[in-house]
Formats: sequence, C-alpha cells, structure tokens
Amino acid sequence: MVQALKTRLSPKAAIPTADAARRDEVADIAASCVHCGLCNAVCPTYALEGDERDGPRGRITLIEQMFARDQNQANASPSDTERRHIGRCLSCMACVTACPANVDYNHLIQHAKAYIRETAVAGVRERFLHWFAATVAPFPDRLRWLIKTAPVASRLGKALRLARARDLASLAEAAPTTSGHRAAFSGPGTAATTRERRGRVILLAGCVQQVLRPSINDATIRLLARSGIDVEVAPGAGCCGAITGGTGDTDGARNFAQANIDAWMKALDKEPAEAILFNTADCGAAVKDYPHLLRDDPHYAAKAVTIAGLAKDVSEYLGVRRLGPPRRWSSLKVAHQAPCRLVHGQGVVSEPDDLIYEAGFTVLELTGDGMCCGACDGYAFREPEIAETLRDRKVNHVLSLRPDVIATGSIGCLKHIEPAIGIPIVHTVELLDWAYGGPVPRGLEALSGDVTNVPGPPPLEVDDFIRS
Ligand code: SF4
Ligand code: SF4
Repeated sequence: MVQALKTRLSPKAAIPTADAARRDEVADIAASCVHCGLCNAVCPTYALEGDERDGPRGRITLIEQMFARDQNQANASPSDTERRHIGRCLSCMACVTACPANVDYNHLIQHAKAYIRETAVAGVRERFLHWFAATVAPFPDRLRWLIKTAPVASRLGKALRLARARDLASLAEAAPTTSGHRAAFSGPGTAATTRERRGRVILLAGCVQQVLRPSINDATIRLLARSGIDVEVAPGAGCCGAITGGTGDTDGARNFAQANIDAWMKALDKEPAEAILFNTADCGAAVKDYPHLLRDDPHYAAKAVTIAGLAKDVSEYLGVRRLGPPRRWSSLKVAHQAPCRLVHGQGVVSEPDDLIYEAGFTVLELTGDGMCCGACDGYAFREPEIAETLRDRKVNHVLSLRPDVIATGSIGCLKHIEPAIGIPIVHTVELLDWAYGGPVPRGLEALSGDVTNVPGPPPLEVDDFIRS
C-alpha cells in the first residue's frame, strides 16, 4: 500500500505523442462536428459564464488542436488553457444528446483526459485524486476504513484551510462520513427469490455505493426477488472502472473491465441470465461502453460486446417487466432527479418516472433544468467550486417544485445534493421497494404516516430472498 502510494503520487515526466490510432479517432470525431453550437445551450459549464472554451464546441477545437500539435511534435504537452478547459468538462454527455451531427464527444473527451494524464505533470491535488481513484475508491473495504478516519480528515481539512491550502483542505473535507454499514446481501452468491421463480439476473454490487448507502443494494434485491427474480452477485466482479477511467487512467479502467467480464462470463456459463443490472448510472454507462474500451483486445473484444448487450440499468429492466400495483399508496410528491449518465449516457429517460408513478406517487416534472447537478465524474473533488454552483442551481429548481422527497438513480447525485437540500433524497429503488412492501427508506421515517397499506394480502415481508 505504501509503495503503491509512492508510485501513484510521484510526478510524471512529460511524454508527448499519442498513438496513431487514437490520434486518427480524435481527428475523425472532431471532423464530424459542424460547429453549429447547439450543444452549448445544454452545457452546464458553458452556462456559467458563456465562455466558448468551457462549452463542447470550444473543447472539441481545443482537443483537436492538442492532438494536431502532438502529431507535429511541436511543443506537444497540453497548454494550461487546454488543461483548464478540458479538465472542467463534467463528462455529463448532455452535449451528445443535443448534437444533431452525432459527434462522439464521449470518446473524444476520454481520449483527451487520458492524453493529458499521460503527458502533463500533475499537481499534488491531481496526483492524490489519481491515487485515490485507483487505489481506494474502487475497493469497499478500503473505503470503509477511510470513513472511519473521517473525523481525522475533517480536522486535517480545517488545519489545511488555516494554512491557506484551500485545494487540499476541500479534498480532506470531502472525505465521506456516512454509513460504512454493510448490506444485508452484497454477495458473492445468489439471493434466491422466495416467490415463484420467473427469471435470473446478475447484479453489480458496486464499490462506493455499497459503502455509502448499502440499503440501495438491499432494496434492489428485495424488489427483484419479490418479482420472482433470482439475483446473482458474481464472485470476482467489482468496480466497473468508471472511477479510474474518469481520471484518464484507461489502462486501469481496462483492468477492472476485464476482471468483470471474466466474472460475468463464468456466471453466465453456469446459468444464463436475462440481464446484468446496475443501480448506479455511472456503472451502467461504463459497462455499456466496454466494447469501445476493449475494441483492440483480441481476448476480450467479443466478450465485451456480449456483456454490453446484457447490461441494463435496474429501472430499464423493471420498466419492461413492470411491477404491477403497489402494496402501499401515498400522496407523496416525488421529484425525480435523472442522473446524466442514465439519460445521456444510456438513453434511459422515461422508465424511472413511469415506475415511480405506477407505484402510486405523484411525480413532479423537473422541466426547464436538465443540466447536471455537478456530481458527474467525481467533479465535486476535481472542481469543488463549480460543482457547488451547479448543485445550488439544481437545488433551487427542485425546491421550487415543493416536493416531499427526491428520488435519483445515482449515488453520486444523491450524496452531492443531500447536504444542500434539506428534504429527503433517496435512490429510486428504495422508494419503489417501500411502495412494494419493503422498509421505510432512511430519511423518510417522518413521512411514513402519509402511506397507507393497500387492503388485501397478508403482512408484507421485509426479506424476500434466501442467501445461497
Ligand atoms: S452540436 Fe454537435 S455538431 Fe454542433 S457544435 Fe456541438 S458537437 Fe459540433
Ligand atoms: S460533457 Fe457536459 S460539461 Fe462536458 S462539454 Fe458536454 S455538456 Fe459540457
């Protein structure tokens, strides 16, 4: 661990030049942009100050220039301007949805971040984040350990602030402080339904989410098991790779992807499954992109296509299966905060709203503000001030609708918005699980009086599965 820390924190010498295949792909993507600027209208960072370089069109130009300079071998290291404005991108992919020319901005920004990481000398803060993303965050036990040290981190943050090291102070203060509990079942193994068996799925238990809010996996499994679905958490599957990939560490992301593919192919060989499910939008988006990540890997390319073909957000899967009439009804008003990586990253738009509505809640439309809350891609750590501004804008908009509760499908959005909003925020599956017979989600205890059991069948079970 100490050696890993030293290795990850040592500054890198600038090693310019991108490989030719990457440079060609970047050039092709950039050439597909017709510079219409329609994407600027939906870009959260462009909306802040109207700086062209903080919008997708400007970033495409910056990235194109950066790689073209690399090809010419002239002063190939990224400039401060390129690093600043490319680094400020949230990777929310709102611009991808808005683009009429289907510009593949997603892979363009991935290449750019990887290139900057490889060629520029990172500062202390960046190097710490790279180390944290590769060595701590993807591993639940290490993250639990970190949470235990949160009080120390908080004191350290105050000391750093007094020492005017604001950047490092905000990092220390952002250390997670909640939960550390364990889910009732996080595998590996099968949570077998106690109802008539109607199907089988594989669930990614995740990394950060299962530590910060283990009730999300519990609610997901109960909801599926109650619908007659066996849920397997495959041995050997872990972080999807989105956290490391988000810092530009493409090799690290590939390692996680390969381990997951091995684990899931083995589970599928044992018994086929209808789907591989995710209850964090970032994970689903990352796994659906495995075919691109592993396109040049002769051993994994075809398997990545198989896995991505089975990958579904839990709301996508339940949206097709349907849950039927709820077991509890309420008059609670729910604002659904759609995670960017679900809407723009996976094209899953209406399913969560439909499921919440069919579960008996009143759904408030978050019209007029589809922009990122500032949580995408570890942004609160990378750009804390902008992340806070974006969060405040989102919070004001949500509060203007006067909801009783907010539901979202990403632990990132949940933990980012929670401290600033003053009303309960839960994962969509926790809300659904409650409506279909599960326990009251954490934070909604005071609202449980607004919910009525539907008359009829016997008392509802809390666990609907057997661990095996
Ligand atoms: S909307 Fe698409 S084509 Fe138009 S400027 Fe943006 S990326 Fe380019
Ligand atoms: S991914 Fe989001 S933040 Fe980045 S350029 Fe596109 S819209 Fe803007």
